[in-house]
Amino acid sequence: MARISWNQYFMAQSHLLAMRSTCERLSVGAIIIRDKRMIAGGYNGSVSGDVHCIDEGCYVIDGHCVRTIHAEMNALLQCAKFGVATEGAEIYVTHFPCLHCCKAIIQAGIKTVYYSKDYRNHPYAIQLFEDAGVHTEKVELETFSLDSRGEEKRELIEELMMELDRSTNDPKASADLKRKAKHLFDIQDPTTLL
Ligand SMILES: [Zn+2]
Ligand SMILES: [Zn+2]
Repeated sequence: MARISWNQYFMAQSHLLAMRSTCERLSVGAIIIRDKRMIAGGYNGSVSGDVHCIDEGCYVIDGHCVRTIHAEMNALLQCAKFGVATEGAEIYVTHFPCLHCCKAIIQAGIKTVYYSKDYRNHPYAIQLFEDAGVHTEKVELETFSLDSRGEEKRELIEELMMELDRSTNDPKASADLKRKAKHLFDIQDPTTLL
């Protein structure tokens, strides 16, 4: 099994945290790293104890949901709450930070921002990062599986597809199934394998 890189490992962690998001508009996750260790993490959600957007709907003012604290902010506030230094740290975020988070990230002394997806990248945020000497780098999340038997399953599907090719009397249904399997398992058309 290939060893996962630090970049992919931390980026995957931010994506895992994003799955805890309580706002329907966007699921964002952020992880703060110092010396290859996670010191804090956050996702976009309500203030502790408040209702969740996923239960009550978003509280939208001027096109923005005002109920949630952004993931980056939550991660930084976790450091503030427990007295953990952020000077010289790195942050991994699922989406390019908004202007407010950009300013907080710079002010907290974070030196590198790894992000997975562009998200309305504000020109002023880009400029502020540059002026502050904060390195920003896009790290797209590679698809990998935690399923230790994933390869066996892919091989089984491949065999089933070849068997289907030999025995089908409904080419359309067979083609549909093959398309689905191809999409799910990234399998070549069995006719090209024979
Ligand atoms: Zn919301
Ligand atoms: Zn933000």
